Amino acid sequence: TDQTIKSVNPANGTVIEEFTPHTPAEVTAIINQSEACFTDWRKTSFEHRAKLLMKAADVLEANADRYAADMTAEMGKPLTQAKAEVNKCAWVCRHYAEQAEGYLADEIMESNGSKAYVRHLPLGVLLAVMPWNYPFWQVFRFAAPILMAGNTGLLKHASNVFRSALNIEEVFTEAGFPEGAFKTLLIGSKHVESVIKDERVRAVSLTGSGPAGGAVAATAGSQIKPSLLELGGSDAFIVMPSADLEKALDTALTARTQNNGQSCIAAKRFFVHADVYDAFKAGFEARFKSLKVGDPMDETTNIGPIATASIRDELVEQVEKSVAAGASVFKPGNTLPDEGNWFDPCIVSGAPKGSPSADEEMFGPVANLWKIESLDEAIARANDSVFGLGSVIFTQDQSEMDQAINELEAGATFVNAMVASDPRLPFGGIKQSGYGRELAADGIKAFVNRKTVYFA
Ligand code: NDP
Repeated sequence: TDQTIKSVNPANGTVIEEFTPHTPAEVTAIINQSEACFTDWRKTSFEHRAKLLMKAADVLEANADRYAADMTAEMGKPLTQAKAEVNKCAWVCRHYAEQAEGYLADEIMESNGSKAYVRHLPLGVLLAVMPWNYPFWQVFRFAAPILMAGNTGLLKHASNVFRSALNIEEVFTEAGFPEGAFKTLLIGSKHVESVIKDERVRAVSLTGSGPAGGAVAATAGSQIKPSLLELGGSDAFIVMPSADLEKALDTALTARTQNNGQSCIAAKRFFVHADVYDAFKAGFEARFKSLKVGDPMDETTNIGPIATASIRDELVEQVEKSVAAGASVFKPGNTLPDEGNWFDPCIVSGAPKGSPSADEEMFGPVANLWKIESLDEAIARANDSVFGLGSVIFTQDQSEMDQAINELEAGATFVNAMVASDPRLPFGGIKQSGYGRELAADGIKAFVNRKTVYFA
């Protein structure tokens, strides 16, 4: 039998709460519930589902302060950002409540028959394996579309955010969803395989690290079940001479440091043209110096602690290795508390190929900076990565924009703006950043049976 699973406050190391994991028998009972719920849920109208999801948005907003405080306590993101995250979840609920029927409308096709079309039908019970970095958002961008499509959902959340996992289940219960529509499984990662193998579970979506994604997709593949993977990234942020430099700098700072730098779509590698490099570097350092690192419950804090000690230790090691390989580092020199997983944000410049700065994802507030001589060079170096999630270019030059859009190997290119998810835009990566697309019409069509219907 498992021991309890603990939520530990990363700001001070204290245990917030202990959870007794579900037993295998309890997991089976929850899957039974989900399957039983699906039998009726799939027959409900879009109007009915939309009414409940609109209610879920209201529940989110009504409890935003509590949900946000629990998130911040469990994983250390600044409280203001946690509140914004809860409100964004209300947005994705309303978006799919309003748009799902249109997204899933029959698609009329030409054929030799009298009529033919594609109809979108639900698949059944779906499993989501989710990470701690956006404890609510990652889950809601999965839950809102799959519920509107008539599926039911099971959540295996990261083991350090189980209070948030239970809060999410509460949102759906309070909104009046039928029992079993969306359930949390309190289980460790080693129990995920058997859930995927359960014949009633039809597909799995995972957001997290490459190793976790590979393991889950391998199990799903062995069972011939579809999977969708949103994995890591090391997004490039290119700045060309014509850029509005102040705007580029403000955007770069937010893109690298929001959510304590722990975002898959954070800008992580900055390629800045030689003509503006010195000005950019000075402006970037000044901005890093102005960041307030400290108690994430304080509304004026910009950066809180790193979510776990092991990720903090890995970050420290990545920076040390890059410096040992020849990079230079700028540290603002903040005084940090002794207890908790604290890390002083820094800028690493000129790291060589083969060092962590160039080759690995850095999951915290470390900006990696290089001087480039041309857009060709910037794109070649941006693409010299195993990842392909997002990318940014700052320029006023139309031909540079076109070249970046056509040549950057990434699931998204944002021009003169930071990469951010939006319920109306598809979201996902290529290469080792994963496959499949969430959000927008793509997101709801990711987990449906596109049934071809033909009439003689
Ligand atoms: P993980 O990928 O290990 O965790 C994500 C989820 O997957 C959790 O629910 C975890 O459960 C589960 N999981 C982990 N391993 C397996 C497995 N073999 N089979 C099934 N489920 C599994 O992320 P970490 O928290 O360990 O973070 C490590 C690194 O991952 C970060 O430094 C970052 O590089 C990357 N990452 C990327 C994210 C993104 O948004 N793309 C988000 C989070 C992390 P459990 O918690 O019980 O282990």
